[in-house]
Amino acid sequence: MRIFDPHIHMTSRTTDDYRAMYDAGVRALVEPSFWLGQPRTSPASFLDYFDALLGWEPFRAAQYGIAHHCTLALNPKEANDPRCTPVLDALPRYLVKDSVVAVGEIGYDSMTPAEDTALAAQLQLAADHDLPALVHTPHRDKLAGLHRTLDVIRESRLPAERVLLDHLNETTVKDALNSGCWAGFSIYPDTKMDEDRMIAILRSHGTGRILVNSAADWGRSDPLKTRKVGDAMLAAGFGEDDVDQVLWRNPVAFYGQSGRLRLDTAAPPALHEGNSILRGGE
Ligand SMILES: [Zn+2]
Repeated sequence: MRIFDPHIHMTSRTTDDYRAMYDAGVRALVEPSFWLGQPRTSPASFLDYFDALLGWEPFRAAQYGIAHHCTLALNPKEANDPRCTPVLDALPRYLVKDSVVAVGEIGYDSMTPAEDTALAAQLQLAADHDLPALVHTPHRDKLAGLHRTLDVIRESRLPAERVLLDHLNETTVKDALNSGCWAGFSIYPDTKMDEDRMIAILRSHGTGRILVNSAADWGRSDPLKTRKVGDAMLAAGFGEDDVDQVLWRNPVAFYGQSGRLRLDTAAPPALHEGNSILRGGE
């Protein structure tokens, strides 16, 4: 089973995770820039983080045979902090970098006017840079949040097929797919979406334009949830080609719109054992 995790925050994960992901079939991933939990106090803090997503983390992933790409943005939560919003002025010089495959994650957190401004500005940046956009849908007020998100997308210059709406569920899947956008589902260990609910959604809505991710980060999460959905699909009677479409071809088709995916560069994980290069931080 070959797996492309289209949304995972590897900065927060260990080398054991990288190894287990490789063993489970993960060969490529996208790491969206996001909120680190600890609030940032200046735009410079974003720039160091962006540089890490462009340099250090791809290097770390390559030691485990996994191709690493990223999406960059001012995240929805910090769009409300005036100490952070000036990073919007620095984004254009980062969005031209080779491994940036979308603008993201953007979208709504609490649906404030400041979030309206940041979302519209960053959809415009995506259009200007010929990039797709990864749009997070809010965890509260899901359907209202989706509709407000779709309104802003329709007013933007970015076509629906270049937008991936993420963190969807049974409430939002139908309207998301009808909008022409791609539909992303984050599978969590004990809250929100799980494998069984994902199987039911795939049964009702098919495998086209649907992506599954682990969204693993610094909270309780599981970087192997993509593989667990693949196994659950096979156990539920889906074919291997269906699994390949959801776990590989769909994310490749979506992020491939950037023209920047590098899927041939993941080297075999020769440094799994006795890895000395990555011990420098000890
Ligand atoms: Zn995320």
